[in-house]
Amino acid sequence: MTLDLSSLTAPQVRDAIAAKEITAAEAVAAAYARIERVEGGVHAFNQLTPELANAAAARIDAMVAAGEELPPLAGVPVAFKDNMNLIGTRTTCSSKILANYESVYDCTAVRRMLDAGAVPVGKCNMDEFAFGSSTENSAFGVTHNPWDLDRVPGGSSGGSAAAVSAGMAVLTLGSDTGGSIRQPGALTGTVAMKPTYGRVSRYGIVAFASSLDQIGPFSKTVEECAMALNVICGKDPMDATSVERPAEDFTATLGEGVRGLRVGVVTDLLELEGCDPAVRAQVLKAADTFASLGAEVGEAQLPATQYGLPAYYIIGPAEASSNLARFDGIRYGYRVPDAEDVMDLYMRSRAEGFGPESIRRIMLGTYALSAGYYDAYYGQAQKVRTLIIRDFARAFADYDVLLTPTSPTTAFKIGEKATDPVAMYLSDVYTIPVNLAGIPAVSIPCGLVDGLPVGLQLMGAHFAESTLLRAAAAFEAESAFDMTPPIARTTAAV
Ligand code: GLN
Repeated sequence: MTLDLSSLTAPQVRDAIAAKEITAAEAVAAAYARIERVEGGVHAFNQLTPELANAAAARIDAMVAAGEELPPLAGVPVAFKDNMNLIGTRTTCSSKILANYESVYDCTAVRRMLDAGAVPVGKCNMDEFAFGSSTENSAFGVTHNPWDLDRVPGGSSGGSAAAVSAGMAVLTLGSDTGGSIRQPGALTGTVAMKPTYGRVSRYGIVAFASSLDQIGPFSKTVEECAMALNVICGKDPMDATSVERPAEDFTATLGEGVRGLRVGVVTDLLELEGCDPAVRAQVLKAADTFASLGAEVGEAQLPATQYGLPAYYIIGPAEASSNLARFDGIRYGYRVPDAEDVMDLYMRSRAEGFGPESIRRIMLGTYALSAGYYDAYYGQAQKVRTLIIRDFARAFADYDVLLTPTSPTTAFKIGEKATDPVAMYLSDVYTIPVNLAGIPAVSIPCGLVDGLPVGLQLMGAHFAESTLLRAAAAFEAESAFDMTPPIARTTAAV
């Protein structure tokens, strides 16, 4: 039987394995067959892990043979962004400075996926240290959007998004500091969620901005997103910022519909300059769909969130400049072979090891934190952060779910914004306020413009993931878009 992973969901794979219609080994083979055909054109992976995958699949097939009950993601081919540690893999963050770094422990979210039976096919390409919105800032080459290989898949988790979109993995994990799960989700037509800050342990992910980073899933359907959250959420003693909450089954309420749910369209953000009118039109159409499903749809405003972008580009780089200080050529990674003294070693190892965007972020952050500028930049940005938190608190008094586009445009051309960092930063104007406030948000497909996917962002109050997923599931069932990119439908190699 030939398996097509771009038309199979995680529960379908698991159930087919449990029913002995397919084996886990066949599911892995299907993933690698698809990789063989499209990866040359897409470049979603930094590393493939067939040995780990085959061993994990063999364990699942042995469980089936022994008649044991299968865990929730048994035999499901998955992949992880290359900033998550997994023993037996390199964790490079798509940076020359970590090109040969071998993981010495497992990231908690990764471990939980594997303990739930998932099968790891590889590590996904990303913008270096997660700095970017296009996956062009990788030391190991650009990832291409499966919908149009001349376009970016978004970033920084572009490899994780492209792998699901092209059917090379069924589920993947990414990380989101300012939009790096949701924006590539929007640009590739996948379901992509950033959970509430603290829902998912950050242990074992290479830190970018510790007060903003959160791990979350990519999938084709909302149900799979809920299943992945069930697996990765929860308190971890290794991460003091992970929260203790009673376990929730995010799949349990998916079918409850949106009757009476208060849905607010964030009109001031929709009017922002730079939002493609065609994207705006799809979002307004989505709001009508919610109304037709029985939601109470109204207009919301988030006036301070327009300052989210400048605040983020102080806070994010400030934290990054501190987190990246450990890559010094001594303890980790790349080291120049011919340093004259220790200062020369630090300076040249870092100058040669980091790419241009990483250097830009370190310099921005160091400047913002320097004596004399700290209050003017960092202190001011923290005040803006508080205003944004208050904006959301006010809006959530009136609404259960807030709607915006995920990204102001559809996928742009490779190279189009590569030389203009500020134009690139504007890609995240809708996603960044969510990280600053620590709230959850999910991007789901809401149609195509000129053959390219548009993402709808649903934002909720802290810990309102189940409400967001229920609303997303109702919209998905009503709209029933086919988000399979053309290259996943043909059998020709790309
Ligand atoms: N694109 C944003 C940035 O460049 C967000 C990145 C992220 O979420 N990791 O910082």
